[in-house]
Amino acid sequence: MQIIDSDVVIIGGGGAGLRAAIAVAETAPDLKVNMISKVYPVRSHTVSAEGGIAGVVKEDDSFESHCFDTIRGSDYLADQDAVEFFVEDAPKRIYELEEWGCPWSRFEDGTIAVRAFGGMSVKRTVYAADKTGFYMLSALWERSLKYPQIKNYDEWHVTRLFRVGEKMAGLYAINLKNGEHAVFRAKAFVLSTGGACRIFSFNTNGNIKTGDGMALAYNIGASLKDMEFVQFHPTGLPHTGILITEGARGEGGYLLNNKGERFMKEYLPAKMELGPRDIVSRSIVSEIKAGRAFKGPYGSYVHLDIRHLGEKKIMERLPLVREVALEFAHIDPVHEPIPVMPVAHYYMGGVHTDKETATNVSGLYAAGEVACVTINGSNRLGSNSLAECLVFGNAAGVQASRFAQETALQTVSEAEVRDEERRITQLYERNGAENLSKVRESMQRTMHELVGIERNEKELEAALDAILKLQERWKRIGLQDKSKTFNTEFTSLLELENMLVVSEACVRSALAREESRGSHTRSDFPARDDKNFLKHLLVERGADGMILKDHPVTITKWQPQERKY
Ligand SMILES: Cc1cc2nc3c(=O)[nH]c(=O)nc-3n(C[C@H](O)[C@H](O)[C@H](O)COP(=O)(O)OP(=O)(O)OC[C@H]3O[C@@H](n4cnc5c(N)ncnc54)[C@H](O)[C@@H]3O)c2cc1C
Repeated sequence: MQIIDSDVVIIGGGGAGLRAAIAVAETAPDLKVNMISKVYPVRSHTVSAEGGIAGVVKEDDSFESHCFDTIRGSDYLADQDAVEFFVEDAPKRIYELEEWGCPWSRFEDGTIAVRAFGGMSVKRTVYAADKTGFYMLSALWERSLKYPQIKNYDEWHVTRLFRVGEKMAGLYAINLKNGEHAVFRAKAFVLSTGGACRIFSFNTNGNIKTGDGMALAYNIGASLKDMEFVQFHPTGLPHTGILITEGARGEGGYLLNNKGERFMKEYLPAKMELGPRDIVSRSIVSEIKAGRAFKGPYGSYVHLDIRHLGEKKIMERLPLVREVALEFAHIDPVHEPIPVMPVAHYYMGGVHTDKETATNVSGLYAAGEVACVTINGSNRLGSNSLAECLVFGNAAGVQASRFAQETALQTVSEAEVRDEERRITQLYERNGAENLSKVRESMQRTMHELVGIERNEKELEAALDAILKLQERWKRIGLQDKSKTFNTEFTSLLELENMLVVSEACVRSALAREESRGSHTRSDFPARDDKNFLKHLLVERGADGMILKDHPVTITKWQPQERKY
């Protein structure tokens, strides 16, 4: 067995992982960093972010206002100390990225341009046309190449984490190019493996967003937090789930029902289409229920109209929206409205960390969508998460490099390594009768139909029962492909196991939260209940399965009040 040692290992090469690797290289140039990613880093999901990144960069804006918008948007479940740190650090990270080559769009006067985004009281979303993630990830990737001490293990899949006592000590990974196995040891680790919305059948996420990091961390005793909160974005293209960015509404796009009415005036007249995503998505569901939506082969939808912006502005600000509408819906938004429906998009919950990204496993830090710091609480504001990747990716890198300098390399238990080797070999050799894609589809449908925008006890109980049965069926899935070179059937099997862990955590937390808050709507408990539920729910691994625990919300100066817009 190959053993690969370094000071810090970064798991994941998206926005958060790359920013963390750069932070280690900059704060402690002598440290050796290994960055592992199951895809070539610039194919990470960050590349597909469209609309922009939030930060206070204009004079009409203030830290106070960005904090308040984020906390109100979270329905008061965000930890306010984390939000304050986030808001104050975000502008520095945005300017720094520009120095590293990220071409932010400009206003006519040459200053950085900002656009409106849902739930924000002023225009504070910085962008690079509607391909923000692509430009950000390219700039981060190029910057990381400047540091020879960062070594990339691209197309390596992490299958297990190892700890020694209380401390994170190593991990097991497979080289997807040739099936070779290795143990990576280090003094500190940053988990930045992204989100998990592939657990839903209709989602905007890349195929690789399967919650691996959440399951890997849970398996070695890290707590998960806020797992019931999943964001549905109001505007996905029917069938494919491809996202039409909120930037389209930020630039002035409207939502229309089948009567041609801007229905948001009935639900949120002060903000209209620029309300937070949970409220806009629920409003679309209400229109569908009231029979005021269009019916199509892939379900009911409403219209997003940007025709009035004109071709010039659409091509300048929203070229990707036009490109994907033409390519995937055969509609030219210059001349026709775009069909849209709510789609699973972002995982608010994740691996529980403190505001400096430390998990409850010593030496393991987490940042980006896999983590739950939490600045998002029960509903994230669009454009906050790219900033979250930079702010907390940087913080995780700084913390990991400090920790690595104070600690020694641990020896991973040989028995545990052999155990993982055996498990992987057995998975390859499995000849079970169950079919991988059928089990996965069944999970995705269960989550979508029973754990979607509106939830209730009866359906959640049914979902839990279904997920537990699917976990049993997973054990009987047989592999047809036994090859060692880019065996996607094999990696899908590992990913499905992780998604079933995330799904179970989601359903159990959703059942326990008997109130409606942010993205979590319980039709049987329609009101927010601060008396009993102004708290986070942690999910931990117990001897007999998942255990739920309460965790307090940190409130600094914004006392919970009714969420009004
Ligand atoms: C279509 C779309 C548009 C979006 N638009 C915006 C926007 O405009 N503004 C905004 O703020 N947010 C947006 N978001 C959300 C935001 O882009 C993501 O939350 C953020 O980019 C996540 O970055 P990350 O670094 O945490 O993870 P990712 O970019 O998903 O990277 C995860 C990394 O982990 C690696 N990895 C995962 N599992 C393993 C494993 N088992 N072994 C090895 N490596 C592994 C992957 O290879 C990858 O490198 C959007 C999201 C989507 C899906």
